[in-house]
Amino acid sequence: MKKIFNLETKNLVGREVVLFGFVNSIRDHGKLFFFDLKDRSGIVQCVISQENNYFGSVKEIKNQSVVMVKGQVQQRPPHLANPHLPTGKVEVVINEIQILSQPKTLPFEVDSDGYEIDEALRLKYRYLDLRRARLQNNLRKRHEFLLFIRNFLDAHGFIEIETPILTKSTPEGARDYLVPSRIYPGKFYALPQSPQQYKQLLMVAGLERYFQIARCFRDEDPRGDRQPEFTQLDMEMSYVNRDDILSLVEKMFVEVINQLYPQKRIKTYPFPRLTYEEAISIYGSDKPDLRNDPNDPNELAFAFIVDFPMFEVVNDKLETMHHPFTQPRLPDGKSDRDALFNALEKSPESLLSEQYDLVLNGYEIGGGSIRTTDPEILIKVFEILGHERGEVEEKFGHLLEAFSYGVPPHGGIAPGIDRILMILNNEPNIREVIAFPKTGEGRDLMMNSPSEIEKKQLDELSIQIRQVEN
Ligand code: ASP
Repeated sequence: MKKIFNLETKNLVGREVVLFGFVNSIRDHGKLFFFDLKDRSGIVQCVISQENNYFGSVKEIKNQSVVMVKGQVQQRPPHLANPHLPTGKVEVVINEIQILSQPKTLPFEVDSDGYEIDEALRLKYRYLDLRRARLQNNLRKRHEFLLFIRNFLDAHGFIEIETPILTKSTPEGARDYLVPSRIYPGKFYALPQSPQQYKQLLMVAGLERYFQIARCFRDEDPRGDRQPEFTQLDMEMSYVNRDDILSLVEKMFVEVINQLYPQKRIKTYPFPRLTYEEAISIYGSDKPDLRNDPNDPNELAFAFIVDFPMFEVVNDKLETMHHPFTQPRLPDGKSDRDALFNALEKSPESLLSEQYDLVLNGYEIGGGSIRTTDPEILIKVFEILGHERGEVEEKFGHLLEAFSYGVPPHGGIAPGIDRILMILNNEPNIREVIAFPKTGEGRDLMMNSPSEIEKKQLDELSIQIRQVEN
């Protein structure tokens, strides 16, 4: 007999079935013994009476025992049906039961929603925490969301391409995570802050439409709801302008939300577009919360913010608001290369850029831009950021050279998947939608990482740890 899912029992009255799963909520009524069996499809009630040979062994099961049940599906008497369960009209009368694994007492309940439990404990025992229905639902929704997006982008001519994890530093405004090279002592790979340069190089290669569900790594100081690694839907397109990219992104979000979150209401469609200046002057923020009622969990107020300044002053230094690969633009919108150079020389703060952000309910959920494809402008931007020309050539020579072989005009965007799913699933932070998140302080409490490594490993890497005196 073939194993079936618990949920299927609802249509199998009268049939023999084999089920596997975890035991939940045991109810011992003396002559009758009930429990709920939970597998990934859901819950079904199982019952055994004292006449059955297995009645003795059933008494050994505990909450969260792993069992196999063979039995017969029967209709429950109408007054005992449970309208809250999809399988609530049936139950499985056990003929045979085997306990496959007996649990110790769990450190916490797994049938509540879990918000009441200390988060550090939940993260230490994440594999148990993930047994709870809320988190399983979040993971399933994440899967469905990514699947939908993959299909959507495939239907729109994109291909998914993996780019390296062991790579070279790319400036996205954060510190890099570094990986020492054993074979080249003293040299390091950097983990990608984003696949930015690779995706642009794919445009040089003529792929035209790229996407990737990309893991990004940024070594930032712990700041509340951030993760050292997070997931972006990274996209890049050739021969497009800003509006092409924004309308595609808009269509994608509307379709995926209508399909997977039909209870949500998108406040304004097409998404409103505000200039950076309007957003700041009207709302005092470049990620305004445009909901009518911020207490309504089903309202989604998307907007695009456009016309960002190219540079901002941070600690008396000019930095790019997005990243250096973004195309700067004259404030009057004219495309005059000489005038642009002139402004880069004399008044870089006056320049706008081709950056755009996607915001949702007061969060920035993605940013992107049309890129600079003129190597001289790119070099100039890096110089303004304080890099010597030689250093730029050393660090970004590959990109500059690539552009010299013919480069299609291109642009892209990278919506942050974790944050979007947090909002769509009404969760208070991104950890709730990530299978194995780190704490706000960047620790993996389950694997106990970061952790020390053996002296031998350090020696192989020609690395010495300096003792810091307190
Ligand atoms: N790489 C950028 C980021 O991570 C997104 C982009 O410009 O496409 O913000």
